[in-house]
Amino acid sequence: MFENLSERLSGVFDRLTKQGALSEEDVKTALREVRVALLEADVSLPVARDFVKRVQDQATGQAVTRSVTPGQQVVKIVHDALVDTLTGSEDPGALKIDNPPAPILMVGLQGSGKTTTTAKLAKRLKDREGKRVLMASLDVNRPAAMEQLEILGRQIGVDTLPIVKGEDPVTIAKRAKTQAGLGGYDVYMLDTAGRLHIDQELIAQAAAVRDVANPRETLLVVDGLTGQDAVNVATEFDDKIGVSGVVLTRMDGDGRGGAALSMRAVTGKPIRFVGLGEKMDAIETFEPERIAGRILG
Ligand code: GDP
Repeated sequence: MFENLSERLSGVFDRLTKQGALSEEDVKTALREVRVALLEADVSLPVARDFVKRVQDQATGQAVTRSVTPGQQVVKIVHDALVDTLTGSEDPGALKIDNPPAPILMVGLQGSGKTTTTAKLAKRLKDREGKRVLMASLDVNRPAAMEQLEILGRQIGVDTLPIVKGEDPVTIAKRAKTQAGLGGYDVYMLDTAGRLHIDQELIAQAAAVRDVANPRETLLVVDGLTGQDAVNVATEFDDKIGVSGVVLTRMDGDGRGGAALSMRAVTGKPIRFVGLGEKMDAIETFEPERIAGRILG
């Protein structure tokens, strides 16, 4: 997930830890390299700049340069700053699903992994929390997407709302709500249509569905491999529809993981889950300690 960034950082830190005594200048040089590595991983410029400044303020204090293991001290400061950047006040994995049937709205661009993530989360809710979940696809323009959700549902043992041809997304959302109530479901998940780009129609449709469903959670699924673009997409979705969290997919790929670091600082929205593969169990809650560990290799 962070192969390139990890490699770059371990190069910088290896040199630092081998060096023994460190001058403030040594630390500054190392942190300049950290900044470049962050930017190459597609972390947004202000986030990279703030991050390095924060580390620099702490690392150029006397405690570090006078310590017996100054290099290791710097690594620890970087680790703690990473955790701090990634941590918010909420519990990422705790979905608001009290008051059944609780609606969860899934939004995102086509190909981001939205349908896969809908099924992964449904499975998780069923397996870990014993919830009864109903999934519904609202992608009326792509019958294949509706069928895909049905197939995944059968595979993981989660019900899907029967497909009725010719219905519009708002009607399907209303039917899902009724069905979820009558059927005694704890949660119903609405997998909205995606498009290749954010356009007027996509937003209007998602907003109309949001207004009838009144979701407890609106989760935006974005492709983690797209770096800064993922953050831009999140900013736009949040402005136009309002999201309660982000799921970063394809974090198993060896792309630039910068979105993970920039997302909260730029959009103010937490990353709640990360997708780590195509399999139905390949999803984890977003855990700052674990992510920082992966970044530092
Ligand atoms: P949608 O158009 O947004 O609904 O995207 P899909 O859910 O159909 O996913 C598109 C492709 O990405 C499928 O082949 C998925 O198996 C794959 N995919 C989804 N999430 C992940 C992930 O976290 N890692 C990897 N490697 N592939 C994923």
